[in-house]
Amino acid sequence: MTPTPDDESKIELRSDVTVELVKHTASDADVLFAARVSTAGEQSLDELKKDPERSKGLINYLMRDRHGSPFEHNSMTFFISAPIFVFREFMRHRAGWSYNEESGRYRELQPVFYVPGSSRKLVQQGRPGKYVFVEGSEDQQELVGRTMEDSYRQAYSAYQEMLAAGVAREVARSVLPVGLFSSMYATCNARSLMHFLGLRTQHELAKVPSFPQREIEMVGEKMESEWAQLMPLTYAAFNANGRVAP
Ligand SMILES: Cc1cc2nc3c(=O)[nH]c(=O)nc-3n(C[C@H](O)[C@H](O)[C@H](O)COP(=O)(O)OP(=O)(O)OC[C@H]3O[C@@H](n4cnc5c(N)ncnc54)[C@H](O)[C@@H]3O)c2cc1C
Repeated sequence: MTPTPDDESKIELRSDVTVELVKHTASDADVLFAARVSTAGEQSLDELKKDPERSKGLINYLMRDRHGSPFEHNSMTFFISAPIFVFREFMRHRAGWSYNEESGRYRELQPVFYVPGSSRKLVQQGRPGKYVFVEGSEDQQELVGRTMEDSYRQAYSAYQEMLAAGVAREVARSVLPVGLFSSMYATCNARSLMHFLGLRTQHELAKVPSFPQREIEMVGEKMESEWAQLMPLTYAAFNANGRVAP
C-alpha cells in the first residue's frame, strides 16, 4: 500500500522498552541436579527435594567458588523491543546467547522511535571512565525532545519516499537512525544472564561496579526481575556473592 503524505509524518515516540519472558525451562533444581551428578551420578535427580537448606548451601558454594557450569542447564527466551543502539550493545554478549532480530530487508520498518523520559539524566560530567550523569536543564530537555522528534520525522519521511519510488527496503533503511525501535528474541541461560547483568546493571551489591548506558540497563532490570522469580536461590546467591557471574 502506498503511504499518503499524512501517514508519512506519523511517528510513535517511546521512552520505555519491552521485555517479555516468552519461554523458559529454568529453576534452581536445574542447578542442583547438574551439580550433584559429581557425587550421586544418575541418582542426582532423586536428591533434589531431600534437604532444602543443603540445596541453598550448595548453590551458594557453587556461586562463591565460581563453579559455573551447573548454572547452564536451563533456558530463558525473552522477546525484547528496544532502540537499535541498545541492540548494538546487547549483541556484544556472545557466550551463552542466541539472537534472532526482525529484518530491515524483508519487512518495512515501523516508525517507532526512542526519546528519553523525564527521569533520564541528560548531561555527562567528568572525564571518560570517571563521570556522572546529572539532570538536564528545562531548555536541554526541550531541545532533546524537539530535535529528536524533528530528526526522526524527517528520516522516516525520506525512508517512505524511497520505498514509494520502488527503492528496496535494504537500501532505503540507510537513512534510519539508531533511535529506531527493533525487536528480537534472545535466549540465554542463568550463567550468561548473570554475566550480562554484572556488566549492564548498576547495583549496590556489585563487587565490581559497572557503568552501563541507562537504556540497556532498563532492559537488564526487566530481565532480572523475571529471572529472580524463576530461580530465587540462584538469584539470592548471585547478589550475596557480589553479582559476579560464576
Ligand atoms: C560499560 C561498558 C562499556 C563498554 N564500552 C565499549 C566500547 O567503548 N567499545 C567496545 O567495543 N565495546 C564496549 N563494551 C563492550 C565490552 O567490551 C564487551 O564486548 C561486552 O561487555 C560483552 O562482554 P563479554 O565479551 O565479557 O561477553 P561475552 O561475549 O558474552 O563473553 C563472556 C565471556 O566469555 C569469554 N569469551 C567470550 N569470547 C571470548 C574470546 N573470543 N576469547 C576469550 N574469551 C572469550 C570471556 O571470559 C567473556 O567475559 C562495553 C561494555 C560495557 C559493559
